[in-house]
Amino acid sequence: MSDERSFVIIGAGLAGVRAADALRAEGFAGRVVLLGEEPVRPYDRVPLSKQYLRSEPGGHRLFVHDKCYYGEQDIELRLDTRAASIDVATQQVVLESAERIDYDRLLLATGSELRKLKVPGSELPGVHYLRRMTDADHLRDAITAAQRIVVVGAGFIGCEVAASARQMGVDVALVGVADLPMQRALGTQTAQFYRNVHAGHGVDMHLGVGVSAFRGGSAVEEVVLANGKVLAADAVLVGIGVQPRVELARSAGITLDNGIATDEHLATNVPGIFAAGDVANALHPFLGSRLRLEHWSSALEQGPVAARNMLGITTVYDRVPFFFTDQYDVWMEYTGYAADGADVVFRGDPATGSSIAFWLRDGKLVAGMNVNIKGVPDTIAALIASGQTLDPAALVDPKVDLASLLPTT
Ligand code: NAP
Repeated sequence: MSDERSFVIIGAGLAGVRAADALRAEGFAGRVVLLGEEPVRPYDRVPLSKQYLRSEPGGHRLFVHDKCYYGEQDIELRLDTRAASIDVATQQVVLESAERIDYDRLLLATGSELRKLKVPGSELPGVHYLRRMTDADHLRDAITAAQRIVVVGAGFIGCEVAASARQMGVDVALVGVADLPMQRALGTQTAQFYRNVHAGHGVDMHLGVGVSAFRGGSAVEEVVLANGKVLAADAVLVGIGVQPRVELARSAGITLDNGIATDEHLATNVPGIFAAGDVANALHPFLGSRLRLEHWSSALEQGPVAARNMLGITTVYDRVPFFFTDQYDVWMEYTGYAADGADVVFRGDPATGSSIAFWLRDGKLVAGMNVNIKGVPDTIAALIASGQTLDPAALVDPKVDLASLLPTT
């Protein structure tokens, strides 16, 4: 090996594996160690609540690479391996086995862990969560055997699983504390659209209410809502969010702020240590503040940016935020970031199931969401990044080509 350096990546999720890929793609000839807690090689979580859960062949790729890829690329993929701590003074990762691995650069791609619902009965068999491939396997078995499931939490996982379960022919009740599904991420008007979509597919909606208990004998049979209603359940899926896995970073003295705080190069405050993916709260130059996005696109694109910075190739992470969700026949992409206070206008009537929502603040586009309309996110991202003032009348007029609104220089 011509390069004696050792780069270690903790976390073999999408951010971690994409960083390893990028190190090799950039020509790094040193040691690359990729530590993964799960016993299976890196996979994409996106299909777990959709095609993989529904056992749909084709149309999705679960594993990021073929088995032989890691050997071919000389990436030391260590599965079923947990890092116990980081010894910053000696620049070593200490594994649970007490083995120490030297690092010259370290990437923390430790992802998120499930938030658990703690109510009476929450430990009953039949109460499922969904994060890993094995969770999806267990949930699929449960849905297949069920006549009726209750989904607790109307965020991304809850909505996608509710849709999949309906597609699998099972009755579904969806329980959410907010008044509308995915309301925090999408805002009120667009979330209303999703409430109607689910109701239209026969989902029994219980919104604006929490769960006070699960009841059952040897397994869950009922979900008791805070308003006293009792829902029958052959199985339950709880999807009430995740939290960034920061314990290793915390014990290493790395600055935390809603995850691991990084600069725009994904560097932490400790020299040589970087963070990417769900766990990274990265300074976003365009927003002028930190943003931690728990979505596929951050993992996909922050990993390579972190890798380049680990190599000393100065690269800024400035991708306009992006996420998507597929539920039933509704295919949606969301570009940008619209915190409170943005006005929304629509191109097309959302009720028709095909529209683009635009969020504007001070006349500037901050986010766009296309539903069942393809090919627009890049233009929306460019319009956002341009920072120009836009005429809402032009945005909503279907006769106006969005690309024609981009600055000509
Ligand atoms: P999520 O999207 O953050 O949604 C969590 C939902 O649970 C929210 O609606 C939240 O309501 C609600 N909630 C919080 N505490 C609750 C409680 N005690 N009882 C009932 N409801 C409660 O998280 P998720 O759906 O669990 O998904 C997990 C992670 O995977 C997230 O990071 C998500 O972004 C990601 N994911 C993304 C996609 C995608 O991009 N398409 C798909 C699947 C998963 P409030 O918002 O009102 O607090």
